[in-house]
Amino acid sequence: MADEKVMENVPQYDDAVLEKEFQEKRQRQIAEDFAKPFDPDCILEVRHLRKCFPLKKTITGKVTKELVAVDDVSFKLKAGETLGIVGESGCGKTTTGRAILKLHQPTGGQIIFNGEDITHFDSKQMRPIRQQMQIIFQDPYSSLPPRSTVGGILSEPVEVHGIVPKEQVKDYVLELMDKCGLRDYYYERYPHEFSGGQRQRICIARALSVNPKLVICDEPVSALDVSIQAQIINLLKKLQREMNLAYIFISHDLSVVKFISDKIGVMYLGAMMEFGTKEDIFRNPLHPYTKALFSAVPNPDPDNKTERIKLEGDIPSPANPPKGCRFHTRCPYATEKCKHVVPEYREYEPGHFAACHMLEQDNG
Ligand code: SF4
Repeated sequence: MADEKVMENVPQYDDAVLEKEFQEKRQRQIAEDFAKPFDPDCILEVRHLRKCFPLKKTITGKVTKELVAVDDVSFKLKAGETLGIVGESGCGKTTTGRAILKLHQPTGGQIIFNGEDITHFDSKQMRPIRQQMQIIFQDPYSSLPPRSTVGGILSEPVEVHGIVPKEQVKDYVLELMDKCGLRDYYYERYPHEFSGGQRQRICIARALSVNPKLVICDEPVSALDVSIQAQIINLLKKLQREMNLAYIFISHDLSVVKFISDKIGVMYLGAMMEFGTKEDIFRNPLHPYTKALFSAVPNPDPDNKTERIKLEGDIPSPANPPKGCRFHTRCPYATEKCKHVVPEYREYEPGHFAACHMLEQDNG
């Protein structure tokens, strides 16, 4: 009898109904947001970005199962700002960066670059845009052509995009090398003659050779040792000031992200869990996942020890994300509701967003 009473009080969730309601609400929100004018202050505006990869197809080519690598990611970025994107491996950070550059065609959403909606641009339309959006890859060893000299690597994009007249290309490249901390006699050398840090400087010089407005830095220092990391980060900051560059800095290293970023986005299983300014996120992390990530950063102050929040279990496969809140399988605060209902991505402080039922409850 007592058990029956308890069962009566447990809310019953119908996943099919909840999913239908959630999709309808999301579609309404997307339509509303797409109708809004572009923000003229922003160099990049990403609205409800989605990227899926097909896993299974029928004989007629119809996709029957897909992997949602990026699901409903939105943010704005101004010139001269850095957005740090953090999260565990496989959370969709790199795919987000590649979808923005259109190295992967987005499945849904809008990418507005410099006041222009480039989401459906073809490769010909993208050509002048590519010059303004560049990427620095994680591995400086495999991202440079081994048979070209540094001069050749840096001259090619300058010539292809006609940045300066042909006779001025060498002087332009030497000046760029100087800006990036590369000696002029490196011009005739090959990538294998350099250390990791020097190679990454060459990659940075190559990305900046075409005067971009936005640079996506995909874990640019994680393959380097700590002292070289600091040099590269300082170089990126110096070049940002000089050229008013916007960066998207993808990393799983929170201390590096804290140092370089103005805004931070925390991703988990393809979705943005929390987004805000660096100050807000570090002063007042809202989402349990962000708190768990921060608790794992070693604190050198012995009097100010933070308690480690341990996440149980492995990261679920993005091919089979959990229903409801996708973090519920590892969240120490998960309730029955979290297993069925997707939390709303809401603004809790000006410019500080998070998606969690616990916050919805606390903030009404
Ligand atoms: Fe944890 Fe629930 Fe919040 Fe998800 S919605 S982060 S499971 S408390």
